Amino acid sequence: MYPAEFDYFAPRTLEEALALLGRYGDDAKILAGGQSLLPMMKLRIAGPRYLIDINRVEGLSGLRRDGDRLVIGALCRHADVLASPVVRDEVPLMWDAAAQTADVQVRNRGTVAGSLAHADPAGDWPAALMALDTEVTVAGPGGTRAIALDRFIVDAYTTALHVNEIVTGLAVRIPPQPGGGAYVKFEKRAGDFAVASVGVQVALDGARVRQAAISLGALGPTPIRVRAAEELLRGSTEAGDEVSRAEPLVREAAQPFEDTRGSVEYKRHLAGVLFRRAWAVALDRAHGRMVGTVHV
Ligand SMILES: Cc1cc2nc3c(=O)[nH]c(=O)nc-3n(C[C@H](O)[C@H](O)[C@H](O)COP(=O)(O)OP(=O)(O)OC[C@H]3O[C@@H](n4cnc5c(N)ncnc54)[C@H](O)[C@@H]3O)c2cc1C
Repeated sequence: MYPAEFDYFAPRTLEEALALLGRYGDDAKILAGGQSLLPMMKLRIAGPRYLIDINRVEGLSGLRRDGDRLVIGALCRHADVLASPVVRDEVPLMWDAAAQTADVQVRNRGTVAGSLAHADPAGDWPAALMALDTEVTVAGPGGTRAIALDRFIVDAYTTALHVNEIVTGLAVRIPPQPGGGAYVKFEKRAGDFAVASVGVQVALDGARVRQAAISLGALGPTPIRVRAAEELLRGSTEAGDEVSRAEPLVREAAQPFEDTRGSVEYKRHLAGVLFRRAWAVALDRAHGRMVGTVHV
């Protein structure tokens, strides 16, 4: 199907883009990679009267290290993340997420920031980045503000972004060493959205886990942090039985709904299985035992 008619703008500065958004408000939509918005417009689920394409706006591209943070521009594509040596070597959880998002074509166009702004409950970036210390940077008529990711995503397809604001990027704290992370996703077909996914990031103190973060994707309206399991795993060693005791906590934290991808029971079971896998890979990486991405 063709989208409904719309007027198209391609501003070259953030100020221009914000002015257009201020003028057209709810009738306008920001266009980044277009990999979620255009399908919705073609299906007539979305029908913005004005499209504000930010692809020519200067200063929003790329991904760079700034001290202990990874600064990611609003136009950073999934493929840019895959091409980053810092991500590959120091934040492999993000590398896993990029590698398992959609297919090559979508990865070349779609943006990390667009995925967060879209806030699809089955989206890979919201789930993966929830296991890391992530802040979303937003610009509006009154200036910029930074919003922690768990406050940015408020519900399915709903964020804390005001109608006159644009996401300009995000900042992810590079996890401390020694440590490791992994993002494991289960999909029905290659390139599909997740049936369920789990992100794990651990920091070690010798042989012991100093800190653990566990996030769930496609297992509720928003990504879920499993704080009870994280607490249990703090101080654990590989030899202990804490992982077995944490698994039921992960299953309990999941709030899946039944759909064509599976029943509630099936998805809860999957949450536990994926958690065990992500945990094992994260620890392997923390101990320098494995490099590369995860495929279920
Ligand atoms: C075939 C196919 C398979 C896919 N598979 C997956 C998958 O496996 N996993 C997955 O996570 N995703 C998947 N996607 C979605 C894809 O990853 C999108 O790229 C992503 O969800 C949105 O990013 P985008 O840059 O394309 O955003 P757009 O489509 O341009 O925008 C999406 C929404 O976010 C808003 N927006 C975008 N950028 C900004 C900004 N800077 N400030 C304010 N608002 C903004 C737009 O107004 C719109 O409402 C798939 C898409 C397709 C077409």
